[in-house]
Amino acid sequence: MSQRLVPDLENVSTIDVLTWAFERFGDRVAISTAFGPSGVVLMHLASQLRPGVKAFFLDTDFHFPETLAMVERIAARLPIDLEIVKPEITVDEQARVYGEQLPAVNPDLCCRIRKVEPTQRVLSGLDAWLTGLRRDQGSSRAATPVLEVKVVDGRELVKVNPMAGWTRKDVWRHLLTHELPYNPLHDRGYASVGCWPCTRPTADAADERSGRWAGTGKTECGLHTLI
Ligand code: SF4
Repeated sequence: MSQRLVPDLENVSTIDVLTWAFERFGDRVAISTAFGPSGVVLMHLASQLRPGVKAFFLDTDFHFPETLAMVERIAARLPIDLEIVKPEITVDEQARVYGEQLPAVNPDLCCRIRKVEPTQRVLSGLDAWLTGLRRDQGSSRAATPVLEVKVVDGRELVKVNPMAGWTRKDVWRHLLTHELPYNPLHDRGYASVGCWPCTRPTADAADERSGRWAGTGKTECGLHTLI
């Protein structure tokens, strides 16, 4: 699908964006989620609209136990068809080849091995994917469009960000109203939760991703910049 064939869905509701995506792509679209608050809301809305919707989670082998528990809770609560995706190499193999400190020494390479490459593998079987990206999550996401065309391994795919215009407050209102589970680390100062070697609590409410790769200048794992 070339860029000119992508409709303008910037000002339509989240439900209408999801409806368009399911009508347009059927089973060739899946939710990419790390089980953060936005992803949980997205899975809730999407699975109400399309029970059995596909979703995938990258198990980097570096997740907090609280995050892995969230995966189980949500999979038991929502009608989603969840795929757990693993990197090609284990943490031990990675440590042998690149050193134990790779997340600190070269986080871009570690993210490529443990996040980007596995995502590309999943995307090779899809035409589109859905994310919970929001513009208010920080400067690196401030220009997130609702729809964008990405080239992955030489093939055009549509990346759908139905929650681009949601605020943090909107998300938490939805979670609490519908009594959806959330990661307990959010009650312990973690505004955004990723892999444990690269996640710190943050007091910066204006930039919820400031606790990720804190002090390195890195703000994204590459999932949303490389692809
Ligand atoms: S977030 Fe950190 S530990 Fe996780 S894949 Fe990236 S560099 Fe590695």
